[in-house]
Amino acid sequence: MADKTEEAGGVHFPFPFTPYAIQKDFMAALYQVLEAGKIGIFESPTGTGKSLSLICGALSWLRDFEQKKQEEEERLLEARADPLNDGKGQAPCPPPSCQQSPGSPRAAGEPDWVTQFVQKKEERELVDRLKEGQVRRKKREERLRQIRHNASLKFAAKRMRQEDEETERLLRLSREMLAAGTGPEQLAWGEDELVLAEYESDEEKGSASGLDADEDDLEEEHVTKIYYCSRTHSQLAQFVHEVQKSPFGKDTRLVSLGSRQNLCVNEDVRKLGSVQLINDRCVELQRSKHEKKSVVEEEKPGRRRRLEPRATCPFYNHKQLQLLRDEVLLEVKDIEQLVALGKEARACPYYGSRFAIPAAQLVVLPYQILLHAAARQAAGIRLQGQVVVIDEAHNLIDTITGIHSVEVSGSQLCQAHSQLLQYMERYGKRLKAKNLMYIKQILYVLEKFVTVLGGNVKQSPNTQSLSQAGTELKTVSDFLFESQIDNINLFKVKRYCEKSMVSRKVRVPLRGPPLLSSVRLFSWPAEPPNALSPCSPCGSSPGAGRGPSGSLSQPLLSSLSQLFGFTERYGAVLAPSREQPKLSGFQHFLQSLQPGVTAAPAAPAEEGEDRALRPASPLMHIEGFLAALTTANQDGRVILSRQGSLSQSSLKFLLLNPAVHFAQVVKECRAVVLAGGTMQPVSDFREQLLACAGVEAERVVEFSCGHVIPADNILPLVICSGPSNQQLEFTYQKRELPQMMDETGRILCNLCNVVPGGVVCFFPSYAYQRQVHAHWDKSGLLARLAVRKKIFQEPQRVNQVEQVLLEYSRCIQHCGQAGGMVTGALMFSVVGGKLSEGINFSDNLGRCVVMVGMPFPSIRSAELQEKMAYLDQTLPRAPGQVPPGKALVENLCMKAVNQSIGRAIRHQKDFASIVLLDQRYARPPILAKLPAWIRDRVQVKATFGPAFAALRKFHREKSGSS
Ligand code: SF4
Repeated sequence: MADKTEEAGGVHFPFPFTPYAIQKDFMAALYQVLEAGKIGIFESPTGTGKSLSLICGALSWLRDFEQKKQEEEERLLEARADPLNDGKGQAPCPPPSCQQSPGSPRAAGEPDWVTQFVQKKEERELVDRLKEGQVRRKKREERLRQIRHNASLKFAAKRMRQEDEETERLLRLSREMLAAGTGPEQLAWGEDELVLAEYESDEEKGSASGLDADEDDLEEEHVTKIYYCSRTHSQLAQFVHEVQKSPFGKDTRLVSLGSRQNLCVNEDVRKLGSVQLINDRCVELQRSKHEKKSVVEEEKPGRRRRLEPRATCPFYNHKQLQLLRDEVLLEVKDIEQLVALGKEARACPYYGSRFAIPAAQLVVLPYQILLHAAARQAAGIRLQGQVVVIDEAHNLIDTITGIHSVEVSGSQLCQAHSQLLQYMERYGKRLKAKNLMYIKQILYVLEKFVTVLGGNVKQSPNTQSLSQAGTELKTVSDFLFESQIDNINLFKVKRYCEKSMVSRKVRVPLRGPPLLSSVRLFSWPAEPPNALSPCSPCGSSPGAGRGPSGSLSQPLLSSLSQLFGFTERYGAVLAPSREQPKLSGFQHFLQSLQPGVTAAPAAPAEEGEDRALRPASPLMHIEGFLAALTTANQDGRVILSRQGSLSQSSLKFLLLNPAVHFAQVVKECRAVVLAGGTMQPVSDFREQLLACAGVEAERVVEFSCGHVIPADNILPLVICSGPSNQQLEFTYQKRELPQMMDETGRILCNLCNVVPGGVVCFFPSYAYQRQVHAHWDKSGLLARLAVRKKIFQEPQRVNQVEQVLLEYSRCIQHCGQAGGMVTGALMFSVVGGKLSEGINFSDNLGRCVVMVGMPFPSIRSAELQEKMAYLDQTLPRAPGQVPPGKALVENLCMKAVNQSIGRAIRHQKDFASIVLLDQRYARPPILAKLPAWIRDRVQVKATFGPAFAALRKFHREKSGSS
């Protein structure tokens, strides 16, 4: 496939083939947004080659930007080097990245000579900076060139690695020999002078000190770059593969970022499993390295002191990390390739990829890292003057809200209190007064949080039943007042937690096997009797050490707590992490059924970075809650949820205004692009996110492209009444009427008679789907449907989805070949459920999508009511428009509809009908919220007859021609 250069809007875009017209328009519009520093909302339906348009459009802009910047720098340096230029001529304009910020005006009334002096000084500094930048760039280019062309460099690095490994092995053997001895012999007086002091060669010193000695070598200036983020690791991997295949694949410096869980190559750490344990262990290993170094440094010459060997990570090695960083920049790699390279180079891909960020042109990362200020900082991301592209942005508002909303359960509050209390009891005498004061404050806060829920910290949360059940919603200040902690400076407490890392101290092991999970060890009430045995440090038999009621006996408990950190007094159980959907296998299978579609790579084990950000320690969880209380006082609420027992009850911080966290992104970045297959309704992004983040309306640009499918490959219908003239309006009051459910059944029966292959029918909720299913089962309608289509239901559990979808697709394939009465399959699904996002019902898998009613969110939800009230208070109401709160509800509904109906048309040759069953869809404000490519072709049918005739004609013609 020969690469081509396409011209659009006066710019040349390299492209792997002749692009569609909409792709050219997309790239031209994207280029303009990046050039002019705007915020773009880009909508491009699935199957229109959005990723490729993003890659070629954005990287073409970066290519031109870098070229212009380089030319301007050279011009400036030439002008300074010119002996004829005495500085009196017109000063050359500095390149965009080096321009003075507008916030530094000259003081009024400053004498001319002062102004000139300052100007000259600044010019000199600018030139020095430019020269320095050039030297760095040339050094990097030379390094990469050498690695690319000189394989011997790689061999040298490999040899170096082997030498290091051999030395390490011998050292380990020596240590083992020493450890096996019975201890040092008593030496005669003066004899110890004869014993050699601990020796480390100069190189070993360098390597023992890890990165610190040469950390500067790994630091580079941050060049202008594009941060591309998406929701899951599999989406990111697909994007990276698109870059590899694109004309930019050969010479783009791309870095893929991920969590330690994805990138760690130290098997001992990796096998700990949970994100938090891996993070903690890694940090602990780094700390060991630094502590070891500082002890070595503190040693006085001639004074002999044996160091207890402490574990460090062998993959965190300066030389290898440098090599890995350069290799990362040399060639585009996805996460899996990065891990393979890290294993081969014996260097940590997690740190290697982070060190590559400054020099990278394209950084690919899950958007949870980008959208969280602390995660950004930890990853070394700087947004100033950079470009951010957020793909799959349709759920962006919910994602930001979710990342910054924190819930703590009664169990976690009690566990944290118990752990911290034990810590204080054990170490109180050794702690400095300030430490003690803050620990007491945290204990007080925890106690009050438990009290406000109606419990107390002295009793197990599992056995405390609450008299008052229900949900209460409060402003942050009311909550603090009611909890009686309004006299405590939470900002100081939060800062103390961050700086002292107290949450790690109360759970990180003090001695013994590292990070054997205290949570697992002490969650015995819920575990089988032998749960202790696999990790028992003292080799005791299962059940040994337990008290009369199966509880751990006090001596064992105290020895365990000394070994492994601090436990809870009553062993409350932490809720397990929620299972994440893993659909990659099925997507892979579906894609493999389609001719001409390349199989997607299997996703890494973890989908979604949110698990990576979820702390496992109860006190860390509470730290997150305190941080939320202090960052968005006016824009947040606290929900007190009191359920049957204290352990089931919770406090939740709800973020009402996601813009507070997005403001920094749009303020610092040069340009931001929100892209997705279905971005409608766009008003949410404009009003709730951008306007509230302080973005002026003129800075926002909208781009929505049509679909690549021919106009007659889609038939969207709004049907207002059924075959027996029953008006279709699925409000809460009417939808449960038997005649309504019967009419829906009759419509489906008719559809199944004329639609070939698969029909996917979405219901507004699980409860309603079950109700309708039961009604049809009783009335015999299910049996009638089964004559033409085999019936499937969306499974209850995530891990059953793959199996159900496999059977569904096999059935459609089989029916297509068998040619009997059954012509395919009918899938009952739920809007916002497991099949409404991320699943392709392309070609025969989804020839018709039916939407039963309008899936409005439950207006009874306290969270939704508060959000509506908040929007009504804070957003301006345009004349003739519905109030912002009501608009939110409509938008949530239509976003969910758009996602569900977008499952069917997935590529240029695909065709499908879309049937919206509810007369409310015919209202112009609702129709306006459909994606443009559907809205432009939608037909509203007041009665069923013409609708059915149109459907029959459409499918007859399409099936005949396909
Ligand atoms: S430094 Fe890297 S390889 Fe070593 S434990 Fe940490 S994440 Fe794993």
